Amino acid sequence: MKDWSALDKQYVWHPFTQMQEWLSDSALVIEKAEGNYLIDVEGRRYLDGISSLWVNIHGHRRKEIDDAVKDQLDRVAHTTLLGLASTPSIELAERLVNIMPEGLNKVFYSDSGSTAVEVAVKIAFQYWRNIGRSEKAQFVTLTQAYHGDTVGSVSVGGIDLFHKIFHPLLFHTISVETPFPYRYAGGRCDPDQCRDKSLAQFRSICEERGSEIAALIMEPLVQGAAGMIVHPSGFLKGMEEICREHDILMICDEVATGFGRTGKMFACEHEAVRPDIMAVAKGLSGGYLPLAATVVTDKVYGAFLGPYSEYRTFFHGHSYTGNALACAAANASLDVFEKDRTLERLQPKIALLKTLLDARIAGLQWVGEIRQAGFMVGIELVADKPSGESFSLDLRVGAQVTRDVRRHGVILRPLGDVVVLMPPLSITESELETLVTTASQSIEEVCSRIDSQA
Ligand code: PLP
Repeated sequence: MKDWSALDKQYVWHPFTQMQEWLSDSALVIEKAEGNYLIDVEGRRYLDGISSLWVNIHGHRRKEIDDAVKDQLDRVAHTTLLGLASTPSIELAERLVNIMPEGLNKVFYSDSGSTAVEVAVKIAFQYWRNIGRSEKAQFVTLTQAYHGDTVGSVSVGGIDLFHKIFHPLLFHTISVETPFPYRYAGGRCDPDQCRDKSLAQFRSICEERGSEIAALIMEPLVQGAAGMIVHPSGFLKGMEEICREHDILMICDEVATGFGRTGKMFACEHEAVRPDIMAVAKGLSGGYLPLAATVVTDKVYGAFLGPYSEYRTFFHGHSYTGNALACAAANASLDVFEKDRTLERLQPKIALLKTLLDARIAGLQWVGEIRQAGFMVGIELVADKPSGESFSLDLRVGAQVTRDVRRHGVILRPLGDVVVLMPPLSITESELETLVTTASQSIEEVCSRIDSQA
């Protein structure tokens, strides 16, 4: 048998990975998968506790999606959307428009969450130019936002660890404090006060500079990569209202929250928010193939219409935009949502997940806070619960825990000291129990070992 781990180290540069550490460890090499389990080259099975980085929805190798991709492969794998149309991309666009918040009527395809955001930002910027208001060119963002890794999406992001080094490359944005009522952030901040403070800040920015602002971009309800920060209720709606008052486009980045993750198809639905532009990716293809969409209202789309010589065209597109195999997978994934009544069957699982987290994890002495919105969970680990003191950065406690769970047959990936649980929506109740119990055991094992060495 090939030494896959050695070959990986010889040839592959992994994303978001300190390769020096990677090279000194043995790589877990996945060969196949089945349902909610990944299977490595040695035949060991692991519960996919993070949906293969938040993308998988109905489990791996779901027959209906496999068949749809194979069927599409028998027709054609890819044709361009530049100058041609294709059946699976048309069908998917119609279906997306039907399930998205009212008003979002035109679908622009790309390949990843980052490109979906990049497209959203460029559309918003050009929209104002096309209607003769080029002074509206600024973007408002939230602190600790994450919208992807391309230079435009990094510009609207705010996670210093990832973004700081690139500052000289980025365009300037105006940032609003994320309402984060974390119990230890300088004493517990009341969620309503936190929300009102951020809304007041956004309102005052708009009063002062609204005429220069093109758009607000935000992750609705949950800021995933920031460590699963769940916004206080009413914040999303409040931000939408301020956008409307000041004629500012609202871009909602549902790359992480979309396709059922928060318990509804889209997080915007929780507060009946209707953005002008919405970006989706990750779960769009059921976690099968790279596919993204930026969906806009007729008002936005209409500003790009006109004689060619007026140069209102949106000059943007990628070679694989609207890829047929990916669109076929996405159509099949939406079929499965209907056939399985995925969202309806998810509700008791969300409740069970909360019960399990409360019973098995919340009481652990190293758990500062558990943040949950549907199937998006962040477990914040702290060295000292009463004070909320963090673990030393060098300990990389989150990474130690997610490494340890593998011994028990579970795959997780942390965000700093936050252990993330983000299982496929298809996870069963007993698998949920395994997931939470394993996380609990590993937190206890790793943290008590750290304490005993201190
Ligand atoms: N936007 C949000 C909210 C995300 O969570 C992510 C990825 O985690 C992205 C954008 C970037 O998506 P991708 O990794 O597909 O480029």
